[in-house]
Order: sequence, then C-alpha cells, then structure tokens
Amino acid sequence: VANLHKKELNFKLVVIGDFGVGKTSIINRYTDGEFSSSYKVTIGADFAVKTLEWDEETRINLHLWDIAGHERFGALTGIFYRHSVGAALVFDLTRPETFKSIKKWLIDLRKKVSLPGGLAIPTILLANKGDITTETIPADINDFCLENNIMAWFITSAKNNIQIDEAMLKLTNNALRNH
Ligand code: GDP
Ligand code: MG
Repeated sequence: VANLHKKELNFKLVVIGDFGVGKTSIINRYTDGEFSSSYKVTIGADFAVKTLEWDEETRINLHLWDIAGHERFGALTGIFYRHSVGAALVFDLTRPETFKSIKKWLIDLRKKVSLPGGLAIPTILLANKGDITTETIPADINDFCLENNIMAWFITSAKNNIQIDEAMLKLTNNALRNH
C-alpha cells in the first residue's frame, strides 16, 4: 500500500567544473538512463531529478543542476548556485589543468552561496574518468580537501559507473543532516 503521507524533501545539488570533465555524463549515469527524457533546459543551466525512496516516511528528490554551456565565472554562476545544499566539484584525471581550476570554482562557489545559517555548503570532489587513468591523482589531494573544507573525494567513472552512487549519497546524507 502506498504511503500517501510520505514526507517529500527537495534538495538542489550543483555539479561544477571545467568543460568536458564529465558533469553531464555523471548526472546522466546517476539518473539511470532517464537523463534524456527528464533533462530540462532552463536559462543557462540544465537539471535532472533523481527520486530516492529514502525510508518509509521520506522521499527525497535530488535536483541535479548541471552548469552546462557557461562553464565560466560571472553573474550567472550566482543564480545557478542559489538555494543549493550540496556541490560536487568535478575534474578530469586525463587533464591535470582541470584540477587546478577546482580552486577557482571553489572560491566562486563559496563567495556566492552558503547554507541559510551561513555555513559553507557541503562539497565533495570527484576525480572523474578513473577508468582511463588513476596515475594522475594529485599527490596533495588529501591536504587540498582538508585545507578547503571539502568533506570527501572519490575516483569516479561515469563510463563504468564507479563511485557515483557513493558520492551522491555522501551529499544527500549531509543535506539531510543540515535540513
Ligand atoms: P561536461 O562538459 O563536463 O558535461 O562533460 P561531458 O559529460 O559532456 O563529457 C565530456 C566527454 O568525456 C564526453 O565525450 C564523455 O563521453 C567523456 N566522459 C565523461 N565521463 C567519462 C568517464 O568517466 N570515462 C570516460 N572514459 N569518458 C568520460
Ligand atoms: Mg555538460
């Protein structure tokens, strides 16, 4: 019997990083093939919704926002980040310069959005295209995360479906805690 009184929570998560790192592919993979049909084009950003039947009482709708088509800084990113409760920063293991950009994305993000209480929004780091190489993982990635208040990092592959569920679960758990 369907629980008609299920509580519904809506969490906005943003996926950011340089062009071509795999943001769209990660969202596509996570939303399990329903990407093309549920993918919405809005002003300067796309999003897809992933629904999680979390427990008997709770349904969570994750609104995954993809910073598509304007992977650069400016007035638009502030609008894009607004009301987000978690962020996945993505870089590409085959292009070291995309890791260097992470710092810039992080500064832009933290400058423009925070949780209602003023805390930084929970952030994770995804080293994507791990199916191609893992030899390029930055030696200082742990320190980088500690210094920049990034709560976890993952080696992901949108292609082979590696660590994407785990990464999103981390953000969801934190969004629930802060809710
Ligand atoms: P975006 O610009 O950040 O949204 O990047 P896309 O999702 O469009 O991906 C850019 C390119 O990288 C595409 O050709 C993808 O097929 C490819 N790609 C994305 N993720 C992976 C991955 O995990 N492994 C591999 N091998 N290719 C990937
Ligand atoms: Mg894209």
